[in-house]
Amino acid sequence: MALRNCNSCGRQTKEFVEFPCPACGEAKIVRCQQCRETVNSYKCPKCGREGP
Ligand SMILES: [Zn+2]
Ligand SMILES: [Zn+2]
Repeated sequence: MALRNCNSCGRQTKEFVEFPCPACGEAKIVRCQQCRETVNSYKCPKCGREGP
């Protein structure tokens, strides 16, 4: 399983969820388990949308 960089905290993580940005639908948002639990916000690298 590949490591991915969490979009919220920037750490590399093995346990993550990946989903398309709800605003632009183009960029993939990666969030680690910890950021999911703490509801850390992410920022879309493409359109700049920030959200939980
Ligand atoms: Zn994270
Ligand atoms: Zn976006």
